This record gives sequence, structure tokens and C-alpha cells, in this order.
Amino acid sequence: MRYNKDMKLYNTLTKQKEEFTTVKPGVVQMYSCGPTVYYTAHIGNLRAYVCGDILKKTLRYNGYQIEDVMNITDVGHLVGDGDTGEDKVETTARKMGVHPLEIAKKYTDIFMQDIQRLNITPAKHIIPATHCINEMINLVRTLEAKGCTYRTSDGIYFDASTFPTYFNLSKGNLEGNIGGARVALGEKRNANDFALWKFVGPNTIQKWDSPWGVGCPGWHIECSAISMKYLPVPFDIHTGGVDHIPIHHTNEIAQTETATGKKMCNFWFHNEFMKIDGGKMSKSLGNVYSLQDIIDKGYNPMHLRLLFLQTTYRTVLNFTFQALDAARENYRNIIGALRRHRTAINQTDKKVLADLHQAFTDAINNDLNTPVALAVLHQALKQPESPDIYDLITKDFDRVLDLSLVTATNAEEPATTIPAEITALAEQRLTAKKNRDWSTADKLRAEIIAAGYQINDTPDGYTLSKN
Ligand code: AMP
Ligand code: ZN
Repeated sequence: MRYNKDMKLYNTLTKQKEEFTTVKPGVVQMYSCGPTVYYTAHIGNLRAYVCGDILKKTLRYNGYQIEDVMNITDVGHLVGDGDTGEDKVETTARKMGVHPLEIAKKYTDIFMQDIQRLNITPAKHIIPATHCINEMINLVRTLEAKGCTYRTSDGIYFDASTFPTYFNLSKGNLEGNIGGARVALGEKRNANDFALWKFVGPNTIQKWDSPWGVGCPGWHIECSAISMKYLPVPFDIHTGGVDHIPIHHTNEIAQTETATGKKMCNFWFHNEFMKIDGGKMSKSLGNVYSLQDIIDKGYNPMHLRLLFLQTTYRTVLNFTFQALDAARENYRNIIGALRRHRTAINQTDKKVLADLHQAFTDAINNDLNTPVALAVLHQALKQPESPDIYDLITKDFDRVLDLSLVTATNAEEPATTIPAEITALAEQRLTAKKNRDWSTADKLRAEIIAAGYQINDTPDGYTLSKN
């Protein structure tokens, strides 16, 4: 299939927008860090997956095939920074008095439902960490054989000083790569060393035998092992939030590149964070919202998706309910305008359509500039009403935006009661039109508009709506 090579993507590794290329012509091999399934993903987490989804849909729009993998962290992510504390899934399971896998299943199911409601296409392979323990043990063995690991009383650690390019990803992206430096060194040799395998006590439920003793894998090893199992090295794109740059992704690179002697991945794609009311989301402030919370407040997931797309993925997004209200209004206006285009009878000039298509393509291919792409959508909606515009937006633009525009346009219009006198004016106008009495028809149209209603002609009559 033909694919468009003119796509620019910001690469965290090189700190610049680059022309996107793939290892295998026409195919994008991609890995995404998935959720840690000990809680319901909040809308900040979901922003990360919507950003990844826009990337994927832009690649598809350009004709690429996608081979993608996402992990589910159901073991190994510890409560404390720097490999300290208990496993997050295990802690929640203990509090709830259930098996960790029950917790993992519950939150994986919620996650899968949430991504579906946000029109996020799931990865082809979605792999729980607990399904790849052998691959992780084998990878740690490889690293051990290369002399890059050491043992402490609580686990097997990667010696970051053996990997000379350790700071390549984080350099210039965040102020100072502090990695593990924030936490006490303990038995670690260097602040940036990290656990590959952690020994666990008898009370831990999720544990496995290993050449080093009973334990569980470190968090970073799962992404290296899973990506190496399903993708070649190097693969094309790795995605995740910016918080992963200095530690998690830096450590993934150290592991994979040490083990294989090859570059892990060519493009590192990171979405910026979402804030709430200008600050951090936190349970104590009561501002950690899930998608269900947003739905319970009367919004549609597409209002949230549209809100996300109004900001580029590399910009911090400040979530407020006023902004979500505005996105809902924007969504309703788009749908209202699409309905008018769909039922109109005029054609749009082919050149106008081609220019709009090109402007949209240029916007998304310029490092996924969704705000500009949405501006092009609005520009299209302002054209004289025509089903060609409806088709351009729903069959072309919405392949990337995926805002359920056809479904929403087809959904029953909210019942607005049109007063009898307005309907009477519209009927008189219809009669005038049938009699080719254009001046009366125009006069009646003006009266309808002046009364605050919109009249649109359709092949079998007209539609009336409130302005
Ligand atoms: P976690 O489940 O904590 O591993 O996070 C899942 C994904 O959400 C990761 O890619 C994080 O980088 C991302 N993430 C976490 N918090 C936010 C936030 N406030 N805004 C955007 N992305 C986030
Ligand atoms: Zn990861």
C-alpha cells in the first residue's frame, strides 16, 4: 500500500522533529507502556492513551500498517520510588482481601472498557507482565552474563555505570536526570542503578522461582522483555508519558541495548502531562477523575476526547470543567453543522475539497498538530452547506480524529419544540417555493431566522432547528 513519507515527529531521543521513517517499509512496529492495574485509570492517564491513539491513526491515515504491543503491569511496579516498598497491585489486593490477579483483572477490564469508550484502538498484542516471567528471567541472565549486574540483600541490580549512554534519552529533556538519586542509596553502588529482580518474603503472593532466589521482576525489565519478545530490535516507536523519560524508559534502553548490542528503538514519543485546575491531580484534593466520573457528570467520552485534541500532545493540558463544557459546546456545534451539510444539496468545488484535505494532512503530519487539524475542520464546516463537506469530515478527517462524528450525527436530534407559528411560516415558505415565488420564500426565511430559528432545505422539504 502507498504510504506518505512526509510525516514529521518529535523524537525525545534527538530532541528534534524528524522525518518519520520505519525499519520495515510500510509497517510501523510500536510499543506502548500500558497501565499499572491497581486503580482505575484517571483522565490524565487516559490522555496518554488518546495521544498514542492519534499517533497510530495518523500513521494508518498515511497508509502504514501497525504492529503494536502494550504491556499491562500486573506485577513489579513498587509503591516507593527507587525500587522500594511493596508491589502496588499486591498492596491493593491485601487491602481488599483478594488475590492480586483479581485486582489486576478488575482494573484491566475497566481500562479496556474506558479505552473503548474513548475510541482508542487497542494494541494488537496486550500482554500482562505475569505472562512473560520466563522471558524476564532470561533477560536478567543475559545481563548477568555480560557482567552488568550485582546482587544486594534484596535483589539483583543493573549497574548503570556499565552503560555509557545512560543519560542520552533524558539529557536536555528534563532538568538533571536525578533517576534514583532522590532515594537513599542503600546497598546500591550508584544512584541510577535499578532492580532487575527483587527478593520477596513469604507473605508475598505473586512470586516466582529464579536462579537468584524466589522473587518478582523489577518494573523496567517487563517492558524490555515484552518488547523484545514481540518486536525486532530496533523497533520504530516507543510511547509513554514524559514522567517515564528519566527512569523507566532510560532503564528500558539500558537493559535492551546492553542485552542486544543494538539500538532499542528509533523514535521515542512522549505525551506531556495533564493538570487539573492548574495543579496536580491528587486524591487529597479530591480532583482525580476517572472517565466514569466524567460520564456521571453528564458528559460524553467524545467531549473529553475533543478536549484532549484541542491541545497538542507536547503541551501541558490544564483540565477544568469550564474547558470541558466548552469542548461539549464545540462538539455539539460540529454535529449540528454536520447535520446541515449532510442534508444540503449543493456540491463543493473539488479544488476547495482538495485544499482542505491537504491542510488537514499537513497539520496532523506536522508532529500531530491536532489543534490546527480541528481549525481546518471548522474551516470546512464554514463552507456553503454540502454533503461533500459532510463526507470530507466524516470519511476523511474522522479517520484520525475518531470523534464518532457519523454516530453522533445520526443520533436522534435532541427534541426541540418548534413553535406552531414557526412551522406555519416554514410551510408557507415551502408552498411559495413550490410556486416559484422566490421573493415571498426569502421574506419568510428572514422572518424565521429573525425569530431565532434555522431553516435548512432538504430534498423532501426542510428542517427547522433553534439557533
Ligand atoms: P501508570 O498506570 O501510572 O503507569 O500510567 C499510565 C500512563 O499514564 C503512563 O504513560 C504515564 O506516563 C501517563 N500519565 C500518568 N499521569 C499522567 C498525567 N497526569 N497526564 C498525562 N499522562 C499521565
Ligand atoms: Zn514500560
